[in-house]
Amino acid sequence: MTRKFEGGKLVLATHNKGKLEEMVHLLSPFGAEVVGAAEMNLAEPEETEDTFVGNARIKAHAAAKATGLPALSDDSGITIDALGGAPGVYTADWAETGDGRDFMMAMTRANTELDALNAPQPRTAQFRCTLVMAWPDGHDEVFEGVMPGQLVWPIRGADGFGYDPMFQPDGHDQTCAEMDRWEKNKISHRGRAVRAFVTGCFGG
Ligand code: IMP
Repeated sequence: MTRKFEGGKLVLATHNKGKLEEMVHLLSPFGAEVVGAAEMNLAEPEETEDTFVGNARIKAHAAAKATGLPALSDDSGITIDALGGAPGVYTADWAETGDGRDFMMAMTRANTELDALNAPQPRTAQFRCTLVMAWPDGHDEVFEGVMPGQLVWPIRGADGFGYDPMFQPDGHDQTCAEMDRWEKNKISHRGRAVRAFVTGCFGG
C-alpha cells in the first residue's frame, strides 16, 4: 500500500522555477506546507542516471536526507518519436550553454534534427513527468504522467517555460505557451503525475 503523507512540511526538490510554480499551484488545495529546495539551501545533486525515475530518485532522496523531511522531486522532459525518444533525460542538457540555459537553442536543435531526417508531419512527441516522493528513512513512491502531442515550427506563444512554445498537445490548437498555464496543468504530464501523487499519498 502507498505510504501516506502525514501533513506538515513537504520539500519540493527542484530548483526549476517553472516546475516549482506549477507544483505549488497543483498542491495548493491539499494543505501541505510546501517549501522549495532553494529556500532550504539545498545543493542541486548531479543527475547521473539514464532514466527519469533514476534521476528523480537521486533528487528526492538527497533532499529528504538533507532536511529530515519528506521530499517530492520531478524529473521530466520531452521524447520525440522521430528522434528515437531523444532528448528524453537529456532535455535540459540540450539547452545548456555553459552560461545558463537557452531553450530557443534547444528547440531549434530539435527542429533542425527533424528537418535533417525529413521527418513527416505530425512530428509526434510526449512530455513526460516522473515524481518521486521520498521519506528520510529511505522509503519512496513513484508517480508518472504523460502528455502526448506534436511539435510545431515556428514556435508560438510567450507564456510557460522550457519547450512549451514548440509543443501542441493532442486535441488542442494552441501550444502550451499560448495556453493559460493553469489550463495547461489540467492536461499536462506534471498535472497528471501530481494528481496520481495526491491520490496515492493524500487519498484514503
Ligand atoms: P530536469 O527534469 O531538471 O532534468 O529537466 C527537465 C527539462 O524538461 C527542463 O529543461 C524543462 O524545461 C523541460 N520540461 C519539463 N517539463 C516541461 C514543461 O511542462 N514544459 C516545457 N518544458 C518542460
